[in-house]
Amino acid sequence: MFDKSTWIRLPRNVVVGHDALEDVGAVVADTHLTGRPLVVTSPTPKRVAATPIAEQLQSEGLDPAMTVVEEASFEAVEQVLAEARRADVSYLIGVGGGKAIDIAKMAADELGVGFISVPTAASHDGIVSGRGSVPEGDSRHSVAADPPIAVIADTGIIADAPWELTTAGCADIISNYTAVKDWQLASRLQNVEYSEYAGALSQMTAEMLVDNADSIKPGLEESAWVVVKALVSSGVAMSIAGSSRPASGAEHLFSHQLDRIAPGAALHGHQVGVGAIMTEYLHSGESGTWRSVKDALESIDAPTTADELGVDEAAVVEALTSAHEIRDRYTILGGGISEEAAVRVAHETGVI
Ligand SMILES: [Zn+2]
Repeated sequence: MFDKSTWIRLPRNVVVGHDALEDVGAVVADTHLTGRPLVVTSPTPKRVAATPIAEQLQSEGLDPAMTVVEEASFEAVEQVLAEARRADVSYLIGVGGGKAIDIAKMAADELGVGFISVPTAASHDGIVSGRGSVPEGDSRHSVAADPPIAVIADTGIIADAPWELTTAGCADIISNYTAVKDWQLASRLQNVEYSEYAGALSQMTAEMLVDNADSIKPGLEESAWVVVKALVSSGVAMSIAGSSRPASGAEHLFSHQLDRIAPGAALHGHQVGVGAIMTEYLHSGESGTWRSVKDALESIDAPTTADELGVDEAAVVEALTSAHEIRDRYTILGGGISEEAAVRVAHETGVI
């Protein structure tokens, strides 16, 4: 008997490109969102994007409210919830890098209202996906929320963002290679459901980015275009899969552990990139394709060593040996790797 079913949630409008910010009002109209919006932003994006958006919406008679969050925390989510209730808003517009968007996404989920994502940096695939996370104690709390109703990415603004945010976004996409390998492994060994479409899309996204690595340069709108489109397609792969599996494997577990061991040391994308070099080594061995992962990261100026991440050798080894404990997600790390093996993989790949 056939009893499978799937429910794919995708953003309804994705607007990417030059002066895309000017389309916020049109996107709101197209999605039939009504009532008062709450713009959720942080200090720098407020100036470059949130204020112009609020002025645009004001001129269209929408009377937007705005709240500025300073840090990614549960208090910030609470702040947004309180402001949303006080101002009696009907949907949220997250404007910023990862932080403001994650917070708006989580608050919208809690309120049961729609959410529009306006990234001002291409720093990770959370700008499109339905996943959000904020630090909680010494770990991170992540939630599966609805994906944004719309994504509006202005390539002019994103090209002006600090370069390391873009290289972090690129590294997050390059890590799709190992994420898909972990997913396939889990499918073979643990009968985890694998989606051919989502796996292929995620892998192809990483390949296209690596093929275009030479054209990804600071300050260029063309580069912002390439990276944002890759982040969008990575997000779509996660939507098709109904999980973060296509874009998150052992390299993400490694990064989550680093967040706990060395909080704030490096950007998410940079950590998963270094993790991907090592987990690719574990997948394919000494003569395998880990060098191409490392070369790809180097070609876009992303870190490839513990030093460049600003963490010490012990932190890398501890993160590698404990990463399997974080969540119930089968990866190449299996039931955990020994300290000796962790030291070897980190040495062989030049990470430490
Ligand atoms: Zn990621």
